[in-house]
Amino acid sequence: MRYLILSDLHSNLEALHAVLDAAAGKYDQILCCGDLVGYGPNPDEVVDWVRDNAALVVRGNHDKAASGVTDAGEFNESARMAAFWTRGHLRPGNLEYLKMLPMGPREVDGRFAILHGSPRDEDEYVSTSFEAVDLFRLLLHRVSFFGHTHLQGGFVKDERGQVNMLFSAIPKDKTFRRMELRPGATYFLNPGSVGQPRDRDIRAAFAIYDPEGAVEYRRVIYDIEATARKMRVAGLPAFLAQRLRVGR
Ligand code: ZN
Repeated sequence: MRYLILSDLHSNLEALHAVLDAAAGKYDQILCCGDLVGYGPNPDEVVDWVRDNAALVVRGNHDKAASGVTDAGEFNESARMAAFWTRGHLRPGNLEYLKMLPMGPREVDGRFAILHGSPRDEDEYVSTSFEAVDLFRLLLHRVSFFGHTHLQGGFVKDERGQVNMLFSAIPKDKTFRRMELRPGATYFLNPGSVGQPRDRDIRAAFAIYDPEGAVEYRRVIYDIEATARKMRVAGLPAFLAQRLRVGR
């Protein structure tokens, strides 16, 4: 069984479609590390697709804010505006779906786990190996996938207990990087963000996981201006469209 790992889709339908085209034939099941909505212009379409296709989904902070589980009070201004816009535009059934999404970590097929932020707090950002060191003892599996930072890569704890960040920047002329998993190491991996990358690569990010021992980090270009146009028409903050153009 191979898994398509998606995170931080953020209502970006063009990015999602590009990812699905690029991943076609490479996976058997779809998993989602949260943040289906927020920022982007197509919340219903993205939630509809996830409901129909993902085998397991954990909630993200934007899913909670848009569905009223939290009040978006800690968001910055443009994120808060997008959360209220999303809440006002989602169909009631999709709002209810987001409200009922489970908190991570969730185990997949008894083998690995998915979560949104960190194993101790679904809203915690894990961006540096310094922040990751303490978390490895809380991971119950050899491999866990997380999101939230929108930074493709993640962390490895090697056979000697050393924690390192995985630098997975994929050159512009390449679309993927394959990483073999070592049996004695523990992995805390981020597939990157489908809908709003922040690692200075504007391409949509995702990962393919083969539990037999490898992860492929992948990137794919999509029509950013089509998404930006819809955001402008919707009245979403211009800053959020600009982020897509610079990838941070
Ligand atoms: Zn996010």
